[in-house]
Amino acid sequence: MKICFASNNQYKLAEVKHVLRGDQIDIASLDDIHCLEELPETGQTLEENALQKAQYVFQKYAIACFADDTGLEVEALQGAPGVYSARYAGEHKNSEDNMNLLLAHLKDNPNRNAQFRTVIALVGLKDQPLIFEGIIRGSIISDRRGSSGFGYDPVFIPHGHTRTFAEMSLEEKNTVSHRAIAVKKLEAYLQSYTIPR
Ligand code: IMP
Repeated sequence: MKICFASNNQYKLAEVKHVLRGDQIDIASLDDIHCLEELPETGQTLEENALQKAQYVFQKYAIACFADDTGLEVEALQGAPGVYSARYAGEHKNSEDNMNLLLAHLKDNPNRNAQFRTVIALVGLKDQPLIFEGIIRGSIISDRRGSSGFGYDPVFIPHGHTRTFAEMSLEEKNTVSHRAIAVKKLEAYLQSYTIPR
């Protein structure tokens, strides 16, 4: 079964393909389907954005598609940056600037609780879109550690661990990450799915 994952983020594609490896699912990226334009992402919630991207690809390129949207939700900041995680410090979407702003807002606040939340919307296999969610709770440290991963990885330590996501290998991150949890739910659904005759 061929499904588009509405992303060109090589890191995310690797994460998703790693979780779905061994399954009879052929993942196509946006480049693979020659979708070169920026996808609409104007929703106020992770769910709205994920749905918007998946529906856009399904309607324009006639291929079943899933799209994800992720936010870092920080307790002491009332859930910010949340749906605005990518552009927290501005439209240039720079991870260093985003982390600087986050740490500046938190200062020495003792409440470092945060969670990554991923929402995946799947469109084109059923009449109605399907939603899968993955959450990983953890804490925000006040320095940066590690050089792998992307985004806020250097400042996030998942609960029960001592190292940041950026200090973990892809395999390790994939055993706990928000996106891996959501993708595993998607995988369970795809495995039970039978193509209508
Ligand atoms: P997206 O919706 O998956 O593009 O995520 C929005 C933003 O959240 C990204 O630009 C990153 O700043 C952040 N983000 C998403 N996933 C991760 C992750 O796995 N680690 C660190 N930051 C992430």
